[in-house]
Amino acid sequence: MEGVTILLFSLLFLNKLYAAELDTISDLRFLTDGDTLVSATGVFELGFFQPGISENRYLGIWYKNISVRTVVWVANRNNPLIGGSPLVLKIVDQGILRLTNNISMTIWSSNKTTSENTTAKLRDNGNLVVIDQHENVLWQSFDYPTDTLLPGMKLGKDYLRNKEWCLSSWKSDQDPALGEFTWGVENDTRGYPQSKLKKGASVIIRGAPWSNNQLTWDIDEFGKSTIFTSVVVIEESSVSDMYNIEDKSILFRITLNSSEHLEQWLWVQNGWQNVLTSPVEACDAYNICNAYGTCSIKLSRDSCTCLDEKRFVPKNQKGWDRSDWSGGCIRRTPLECKNGSEEFIKYSNVKLPDTKNTWFNMSMSIEECGKRCLKNCSCMAYANPDPTRSICVLWFSDLLDILLLPKGHGGPDIYVRMASLELQAPTENSPPVSKNQGKANIKMILLVSFFAVLLIGSMITIWLCYARRKKNKAKPKWEGELFSASNIQEEDMEQALFSFSTIANATSNFSLENKLGEGGFGPVYKGMLEEGKEIAVKRLSKYSNQGPDEFQNEVICISKLQHRNLVKLLGCCVHGDEKLLIYEYMPNKSLDSFIFDKTQSMLLDWKTRFDIIKGIARGLLYLHQDSRLRIIHRDVKASNILLDHDMNPKISDFGLARSFGGNETYANTQRVVGTYGYMSPEYALDGLFSVKSDVYSFGVLVLEIVSGKRNRGFITKPENEINLIKHVWRLYNEGSSLELIDETCAESCHPPEVIRLIKVGLLCIQHNADDRPNMSNVIMMLGSDGVLPEPKQPTFLIENDLRVVNYSSSTFTGGSLNELTITEVNAR
Ligand code: AMP
Repeated sequence: MEGVTILLFSLLFLNKLYAAELDTISDLRFLTDGDTLVSATGVFELGFFQPGISENRYLGIWYKNISVRTVVWVANRNNPLIGGSPLVLKIVDQGILRLTNNISMTIWSSNKTTSENTTAKLRDNGNLVVIDQHENVLWQSFDYPTDTLLPGMKLGKDYLRNKEWCLSSWKSDQDPALGEFTWGVENDTRGYPQSKLKKGASVIIRGAPWSNNQLTWDIDEFGKSTIFTSVVVIEESSVSDMYNIEDKSILFRITLNSSEHLEQWLWVQNGWQNVLTSPVEACDAYNICNAYGTCSIKLSRDSCTCLDEKRFVPKNQKGWDRSDWSGGCIRRTPLECKNGSEEFIKYSNVKLPDTKNTWFNMSMSIEECGKRCLKNCSCMAYANPDPTRSICVLWFSDLLDILLLPKGHGGPDIYVRMASLELQAPTENSPPVSKNQGKANIKMILLVSFFAVLLIGSMITIWLCYARRKKNKAKPKWEGELFSASNIQEEDMEQALFSFSTIANATSNFSLENKLGEGGFGPVYKGMLEEGKEIAVKRLSKYSNQGPDEFQNEVICISKLQHRNLVKLLGCCVHGDEKLLIYEYMPNKSLDSFIFDKTQSMLLDWKTRFDIIKGIARGLLYLHQDSRLRIIHRDVKASNILLDHDMNPKISDFGLARSFGGNETYANTQRVVGTYGYMSPEYALDGLFSVKSDVYSFGVLVLEIVSGKRNRGFITKPENEINLIKHVWRLYNEGSSLELIDETCAESCHPPEVIRLIKVGLLCIQHNADDRPNMSNVIMMLGSDGVLPEPKQPTFLIENDLRVVNYSSSTFTGGSLNELTITEVNAR
């Protein structure tokens, strides 16, 4: 009996081991319902699945250890098996991998191979391959992408074999059949390769012309440091673009979803983090500004300008004034092409124009490229799209879908042909490149070379510092003496360090008259530097327990962030106990002083309020998604939104912002910071924060801006509603949302926009964080007229509900009564 038990156990064990190791189908081994193949180290699994509530069955590949099934490839996407009859996947004659149903009808099969002796194997990168006995790949699923691009998969075209690798969306979440959208290389011309997202034949967005440089960012900010590399292969017979990830333990995928979005996903701890979504904004739309136009003010419809307003003018000025960009721009002085008299103007940091009508050469210097272009009267511009190589691209038609990128983006240069008359006017973007000028100014060249040498020298120094810093990463940086100016200078601060005496002089010794206000971390003073520049100086409270941390956090975070909707940090000063932050001065101070003030609020008409909301949304999107650091602000509120001279909103106060690593994207914190009235339930009650807690605060802010009322401290009679949210929810359900509008802007408002904004606000404050949109969804909602989902009921939190109400143990350091800021609540 004992012997039998041992045998049974051994068999079970062997069976288990065998099942765990099964990554191959051979002529002896096939796959049927309930069976799966698992790749060697258990990352991917192949088997049969039913998407969502669909009854259709498919053969697909998904991540083995991710509980929410994430399918990365589907074999029979257009030919599902309907009903429950058994399926079999096996190798048949001519090395074909075939999926059949119970009556041996073929549901799906791979191509014929030249070998009889084949096996099918699921590899650890998610590639299902049919191989011969020498491991030569005869067929692979990577050649037939569905909606997902994994590291190692390529996009492109093989012109000889007339083969294309492109992503195509599913029809819907429940239906993997071929959907409407594709993302792949331009396939109707042989111009320099670029990718386009298309709906049928119409282009929705265009990626930049391919470059080995396009995905070389590291994702250190998610707590995992790895290098992404793009591998672009451009040959006579084929072109392809692929990305690789150095650290194979990182799970990353790019998907094209069924609602025209290309999304990048990274697995972080327990969930997929959306790293990037496009399109996000109006400016992402293909060729929105037409020839020689550039989309500069994102989101707004008034977003097109001519590439260079000194040299180009709108083709149809009247239409342009009405925001009709269809005519694009034309040259102020037409080209004549006389005896090579024309030259080129260089525009730096651009997304190069559509390469549809281009010629290119893969090994030509930029000088040679310029000469080529000059010789041909139809050549409009030239550029090298890839800084890792010497590629020459020539454009032979008007430049379409060009974009001037934000500063620091590091995009390539383009040289645009100009009539000689136009060479005199300075470019905003960069000075004209003139042959004669170049020759004449040898001294200048020597000077530039000298500085180039200096620059290279300093880059090496910076690199050495960086390398040293990486090496020392495990060691806390601000250990021991909290701050030393040299620390900051060497490692984290590119900004100027100000001396204490400069700042004391600028603020008249921190005089009361210069005091602008006081936030959770101490007073803020207005100052004027000797050269007449106005500044705002935040003087960190010496008595605050947490100040230095926040100071460090703020300095490091903000110095790395640049966006027009974030307040700019000019520098800092450390002097003994004193720690000062120096910002650009915002003459209109903070938003709360407008929206909650009867007189001031009259200055905010409806358009201004809407623009402010859009600006805040863009700033938050940048923090959450676009910046290299990913930041959750954690204290988004009206008093943290500053207004510049033109009432453009700028998010301030990153002392509370927290750049988060991989395990902190949805983290539980013992340390609750934020402001009542703006805190999401999961954050206020359980200390759980994520980008969705900022979305919640944003939603409250939207409702405050529309209504002109504070959420906190709001009471209605006779309904006795204890906060604005409850009031908004009642009005919404009664269909009387318009009653919410602040009477001071009622006249200028556009009712459908008001209703839409309130709905967006309510979507952002839904109780369940997963139900809330992310900021890129919010921006889409604000910028379009599409139907919005119905918001679910929010939670009506009152302060007594909050577990963290523990004022006595908190180190509350400031804020008005109406705005109780919790700067630290320690669970002791
Ligand atoms: P904070 O500590 O950032 O919350 O700032 C407190 C107050 O100081 C704000 O509500 C503003 O009124 C004012 N303030 C802060 N920064 C600036 C700035 N850069 N320009 C003008 N006023 C500012």
